[in-house]
Amino acid sequence: MGDYWDHRPYPETAVLVGVIKQGQSDEMASDYLEELAFLAETAGAEIRAEYTQRLEAPHPKTFIGSGKLSQVKDFVKEEEIDMVIFDDELSPSQLRNIERELNCRILDRTNLILDIFAGRAQTAHAKTQVELAQYQYLLPRLTRMWTHLERQRGGIGLRGPGETEIETDRRIIRDRISKLKDQLIKIDKQMMVQRKNRGKMVRVALVGYTNAGKSTLMNLLSKSKVFAEDKLFATLDTTVRKVVVENLPFLLSDTVGFIRKLPTHLVESFKSTLDEVREADVLMHVVDISHPNFEEQIEVVESTLRELGGGEIPVLLVFNKTDAYTYTHKDDDDLTPMSRDNLSLDDRKKEWLKTHPEALFISALKKNNIDELKDQLYQKVKDIHVKRYPYNDLLY
Ligand code: GDP
Ligand code: MG
Repeated sequence: MGDYWDHRPYPETAVLVGVIKQGQSDEMASDYLEELAFLAETAGAEIRAEYTQRLEAPHPKTFIGSGKLSQVKDFVKEEEIDMVIFDDELSPSQLRNIERELNCRILDRTNLILDIFAGRAQTAHAKTQVELAQYQYLLPRLTRMWTHLERQRGGIGLRGPGETEIETDRRIIRDRISKLKDQLIKIDKQMMVQRKNRGKMVRVALVGYTNAGKSTLMNLLSKSKVFAEDKLFATLDTTVRKVVVENLPFLLSDTVGFIRKLPTHLVESFKSTLDEVREADVLMHVVDISHPNFEEQIEVVESTLRELGGGEIPVLLVFNKTDAYTYTHKDDDDLTPMSRDNLSLDDRKKEWLKTHPEALFISALKKNNIDELKDQLYQKVKDIHVKRYPYNDLLY
């Protein structure tokens, strides 16, 4: 017989593990784990428990101490947990040791991010980039990752080997990596041509931490339908739209969002996606001001931009989600010391405008202050346009 529900894959259960490093507050640590949980949920997992341990540095052999690890082990066994997810990239040997101890699937942050990317890549370009990054991640970890990757990706043209065949598989994977790299070079050339064909129109790229509201803003400005949802990494592919503000046309692109601890080799693999950012004339840095860690998110985005070689491009700072901003109000007779949690939206504005006089405070969802944003954007684009075409005043 068998009905529909028999075939429905039930969500896989997961336990999260994080190390709290020196100088990290409990609050910060819990925010980090919350982000990991968000990533895991985006990948389709159901979180059943979270474990943290305060350590000066992660344990070289097992990431967390043996006492903590055996607690995790007991829980995993009792609750028949499918996988344990660690908040940092594990070394190949850590991965092996932990897997031997816990006897279930082990994922680390990199692996999880790659998994989400793989599930969401749409174009040949994005798919190739993810596959390359996955193989590069896999190569030094071949002994254990194999069955997992095979199950997850299905027909990638390779068969599940036993331990004895690992050398052959390494060779196959190395071949595959070099093929993928060749393919990417070809795609990159095509994309470069495409970008050239777009002419000399001024290019504005939306950048920002994942989930900041880039796609929502893109939709609003270009009246197009870019996929936006409350998940991390909703999409990997770059979308470019022509936008016209007061007769002035320019190109607006929406790309993948940045995230804390994005491994360098991963950034490397997504280089061509990020060319869109690198070659932009102006960046609109969208910030989710309602997020408790928004200031750290700004840092992550800025440092990733520098890493990419986009550190010199002028940036328009756009604080989004002002409608969702909350703070703990402090009365005048309240004697507890003022803290960052007591800052009102106006306090924040004053603070940021001191160093970033052009910064904007909007709500893409409630469409607040969008005209102001358009004005700013118009000015910025116009300045560049005038510099580029000093004798062409037809447009204005
Ligand atoms: P992206 O990852 O930066 O592209 O973010 P998205 O545009 O996909 O938005 C992420 C989530 O934030 C979605 O659920 C949006 O509806 C929501 N969002 C976007 N802008 C705002 C806003 O101004 N206010 C609020 N409250 N939510 C917003
Ligand atoms: Mg998006």
